[in-house]
Amino acid sequence: MRCPKCGEEVDGLCLNCTNLNELVWLDDFIITTCPRCGSFKVEGKWRVLDLEEVVDFLISKLMRIHPELQVKEIIVEYEPFTIRVLGKISNTDVEVVKHPNLKIIKETCIRCSREAGGYYESILQLRADGRALEKDEVERANEIIEEVLLAEKNNQKAFVTKVVERREGIDYFFGGRDVGRKVSRKLINEFGGEIKESKTISGRMDGRDLYRFTYLVRLPSYKNGDVVRENGKICVVTNAKLKKAMDIKTKQTVTLKNPKLVVRKSRIKKGVVVQKDEYIVELIHPDTNELIFAEKTAEFEIGDEVFVVEYNDKFYAIPSWLIIK
Ligand SMILES: [Zn+2]
Ligand SMILES: [Zn+2]
Repeated sequence: MRCPKCGEEVDGLCLNCTNLNELVWLDDFIITTCPRCGSFKVEGKWRVLDLEEVVDFLISKLMRIHPELQVKEIIVEYEPFTIRVLGKISNTDVEVVKHPNLKIIKETCIRCSREAGGYYESILQLRADGRALEKDEVERANEIIEEVLLAEKNNQKAFVTKVVERREGIDYFFGGRDVGRKVSRKLINEFGGEIKESKTISGRMDGRDLYRFTYLVRLPSYKNGDVVRENGKICVVTNAKLKKAMDIKTKQTVTLKNPKLVVRKSRIKKGVVVQKDEYIVELIHPDTNELIFAEKTAEFEIGDEVFVVEYNDKFYAIPSWLIIK
């Protein structure tokens, strides 16, 4: 084959007569980013990405390449913005260097403008049944919220608008309904308890009612390891989520229907067995150091450390394996 311009015998495109620059066509890069959160608008959607990822995407989308050029590698440099295309044409290695403009436009994303405007679609009211929330429950709730928000990072409603601490618990205001629902489910999965969902009309748009959803999450009054009284039996909670406990005397599993707290796990005292008979063990009282008599709920040896629970002026000795799991 001969080159149509210079007549030289060539295999493919004649490199002498080809402007290398014309082998690759690229427009300027115009990239929109949110100054508040740093996310990028790609094809009309806000996404959490790196600038490099956006540039790579735009290259794959915008770059046009001469059909005779076999591309081996594309190298992007930022200072100054340069795109090098390494490849082969007519069996010769070539490098095409492009200097497109990289223009960054700042625009507040939907999520940030909603967040700044106090937008919310759901409220999670975190409460505990008949008691105050405990520190570890609140800490875990905050962790779960972070996990859910992280997993939903491209969801434009995944944010916390505000957190209000009340005497009876904590209210979390979420941008989206989904976030409120997901966090409530995860809390119940971990701690047990129940969710009550309700909705109120918050306005109208395009002839449709808009709703706000409230998820009232009530954690159970008891936690694993707590001692409760159920139907006259004293039990240790073994699975708060499934409402299961163990009767300290019979060691049978009891389903908790209307349990009353006797003592929290963290407040159960320990004593040491000093004497025993068939029904009773003698213990040193952990607070007063006095000798006390407790009902035996298992076989103990002298010198054993046991948990001591006081209820209705009676003491019960509980083996430590029942409390610590
Ligand atoms: Zn030529
Ligand atoms: Zn933003």
